[in-house]
Amino acid sequence: MSVEFREEPCRSALNRVQGMPFKWSLNPYMGCAHRCTFCYVRGFERRADRPAGEAYGRSVRVKVNVAEVLRRELGRKSWQREVVAIGAATDPYQPAEGRYRLTRACLEVFADARSPFSIITRGPMIVRDLDVLRRAATRAEVHVTFSVPTLDTEIWRRTEPGTAPPRQRLRALRMLIDAGIDAGVGIAPVLPGISDRPELLADVVRAARDAGATNVWCNVLYLQPGTREHFMEHLARDWPELVPSYLALYRRPYPGRATTEPVKGTVAALKKRFGVADRRVRPLEPSPAAEQLALAI
Ligand code: SF4
Repeated sequence: MSVEFREEPCRSALNRVQGMPFKWSLNPYMGCAHRCTFCYVRGFERRADRPAGEAYGRSVRVKVNVAEVLRRELGRKSWQREVVAIGAATDPYQPAEGRYRLTRACLEVFADARSPFSIITRGPMIVRDLDVLRRAATRAEVHVTFSVPTLDTEIWRRTEPGTAPPRQRLRALRMLIDAGIDAGVGIAPVLPGISDRPELLADVVRAARDAGATNVWCNVLYLQPGTREHFMEHLARDWPELVPSYLALYRRPYPGRATTEPVKGTVAALKKRFGVADRRVRPLEPSPAAEQLALAI
């Protein structure tokens, strides 16, 4: 699939966020060539009057000056060094990053400014930036989440047309953990009737534990307008027998507790059963000694 890259400078790098667990976000790219069928960003795109269906992710905006702008913003006296979520609206390690290296440049800026950040990604390309992540983690809090909704190959292929296989993400996770970086797994989105079977959830939690994940969390599919139409089209193609139950479950964007609580309960029990915990041998924490060590390696 060909993707058009639109090189468009930005005026601001950091976005203020409301109603989320973080106050700031950063997206070096807009649009995502991974083109997951369930991508919640399709909803925002539709509200902004941009393509949210099949055309989503075929044209990616590249904020070519994002690192320079970020350096100015983090250099302001008023910057409180609050955690910035990188990748909340696009994957920072989608294919464009291989060419433009903007996420990497932003991580350098965070490290220089001793400012904390979290990353969420499906991209194993992150291991390319282990050196910067290590340096940043000795200067401020750093957390990485790998999104791994399932290890089932068929479900992955049908729902994530542009991502690397989930087991590659777990191999990348292992490398981060071995390097001392705090990294966990988000099982998201869990698809009711598709990827919510306890044995499929167990496969992910077990493999996350084996890869050394410091934490595992989950979230059930959210279908806002824009995402909903696209996802339902694909559901009708791939799992037509489930269309009636989805129409019933998704009268609102988020299904009721009768659907979400059992999934959360199962994952919580699996975490206990498999012993998911922070087992990093040499965790990197912000400290002058760790900083010296990271520089020496
Ligand atoms: S990787 Fe994330 S941002 Fe990209 S299409 Fe998939 S869900 Fe959307």
